[in-house]
Amino acid sequence: MSIPIRVLMVEDSEDDAALIVRELKRSGYDPAVERVDTSDAMNKALVEQTWDIVICDYRMPAFSAPDALMLLKNSGLDLPFIIVSGSAGEDHAVAAMKDGAHDYIMKDNLSRLIPAVERELREVRVRRERDQAEEMIRFLAYHDSLTALPNRTLLRDRLERAILDAQRENRPLAFLLMDLDRFKEINDTLGHHRGDQLLQQVGPRVQNLLRGSDTVARFGGDEFAVLLPHTGAEGAAETAQKILKALQPPFTIDNLPIHVEASIGIALYPEHGTGSENLIQRADVAMYAAKRNGSGYVSYAPEQDQHSPRRLALMGELRQAIEQNQLFLHYQPKISLLTGRIIGVEALVRWQHPEYGFVPPDQFIGPAEQTGLIHPLTQWVLDTALRQCQVWREEGLDIRVAINLSVRNLQDLQLPGQVAERLQNYALSSDRLDLEITESAIMADPTRALQVLTGLDQLGIGLSIDDFGTGYSSLGYLKKLPVDTIKVDKSFVMDMVSDESDTAIVKCAIAFGHNLGLKVVAEGVENRETWNRLAALGCDSAQGYYMSRPIPSAELARWIGESPWGLK
Ligand code: C2E
Ligand code: MG
Ligand code: MG
Repeated sequence: MSIPIRVLMVEDSEDDAALIVRELKRSGYDPAVERVDTSDAMNKALVEQTWDIVICDYRMPAFSAPDALMLLKNSGLDLPFIIVSGSAGEDHAVAAMKDGAHDYIMKDNLSRLIPAVERELREVRVRRERDQAEEMIRFLAYHDSLTALPNRTLLRDRLERAILDAQRENRPLAFLLMDLDRFKEINDTLGHHRGDQLLQQVGPRVQNLLRGSDTVARFGGDEFAVLLPHTGAEGAAETAQKILKALQPPFTIDNLPIHVEASIGIALYPEHGTGSENLIQRADVAMYAAKRNGSGYVSYAPEQDQHSPRRLALMGELRQAIEQNQLFLHYQPKISLLTGRIIGVEALVRWQHPEYGFVPPDQFIGPAEQTGLIHPLTQWVLDTALRQCQVWREEGLDIRVAINLSVRNLQDLQLPGQVAERLQNYALSSDRLDLEITESAIMADPTRALQVLTGLDQLGIGLSIDDFGTGYSSLGYLKKLPVDTIKVDKSFVMDMVSDESDTAIVKCAIAFGHNLGLKVVAEGVENRETWNRLAALGCDSAQGYYMSRPIPSAELARWIGESPWGLK
């Protein structure tokens, strides 16, 4: 089987071109060649067709290799450029290589041609894969992958810029937060695929109403944010009404009509706040007020603060829960894709509320953050997980344990000291512990987070970036952090078998991680196909329902003994 190769031959002599073609054919290539010998012809060929390689003579009557090289550079294309020439002289050869030619081969020594072609084709492929991965990840850093709308980071950026403009021009601006009502119900009854489709359709409807200078962003889950520069109270209320009206006609998903309602909170600059954090928080409070009274939209008022988010209601009880043992941990195995064996577990906190029953962590971690309860909570998790780790060790099970940290933990300069002390209490070496942190937690205060992370790193603890790809951070910054693992977010992994773009994202994340010398874990592996595909992509390890759900410690010991992924 010969290998097709598209060669742009910059060469005035037909005979010399034929020699090169013969050399390629002899080595198993099937070249499709176009020969050009002027700058116009080369330009046209570059624009109109796709090439794998440029092979160029040094000196031609109407053209030369340095000119051709310049032309290629200006085209912006990254193609291997190999000069094949008679004796042009060493000086010229060196100069051409400095200008970006990839090799310089003498016509009377064509045996060097094929190895050079092979090497350069390989290298250009590596370069392209790396560039694509970086580009995709950069996009992900600023956009929500489901809706392709700007994400929180980009929104915050734009909000901060808009505030500066508003200050300078002495004009108002409005910030709206919108939450879909009963979205969870839709998700639960129709399935998360349909829920996702709904979220994808909401953005464009809202966007269609707005000016080019306005921003619609996905703020998280079923929350959207709208930034309206140059807009005061009246304009904001009008826009909120228009948005609610635009959402009235049912959405069509898999031929099903779906009705959606939303609640919108409005915060205004400068009336309700002059900083981005402030405005976001107040829009959030107003949004909950709108939800509570079912009025569609509400503008922020200070009274709303006292009975603000419903989600804070549980907080009084969380304090007791920590003290009264209503909390417990489940452990979910992480499996090496290489050996197929368990390499560690992630500890996930659970709350069994005496009245409401099981409360998922997503519902109390955020509010615990806001109220500061996250500190005792994290200490409890750390203690419990390390004690368990010690028990396992006594039972002969050598298992690393990972726990999750949140924003405030990462700003707590005492954390490294506390962790060190606990490791000592349980006589565990620091490499038995892994800490998972999200990009958003780091970016909340990067300087301070770096200080805490460095402290933890110096103890020899493993550090992982959790939910990687949900795009809250700056990639450049990520490279500077002392982390050793990234965990690709489950939203990309769960559907990667059926969704090409998810596969592409996971592939990019793996390439990105490996490029930085990091290990890559995929979370949300729900079936064998996903496992196989991840293994083929070179991912290091995996976590997900396919291998095991998060389970109580006692069950884990049994799982280890019985499952194909166990230690034995
Ligand atoms: P996370 O750290 O990304 O944890 C992974 C979540 O994905 C867990 O949800 C886990 O049950 C779920 N999961 C694992 N495999 C699969 C799968 O194959 N399919 C699906 N659909 N889901 C899977 P969980 O336990 O509800 O935790 C949610 C989040 O709550 C965690 O996300 C973490 O951010 C936070 N969290 C949990 N425990 C703690 C804790 O002790 N401290 C802090 N600060 N945060 C915690
Ligand atoms: Mg985690
Ligand atoms: Mg995660």
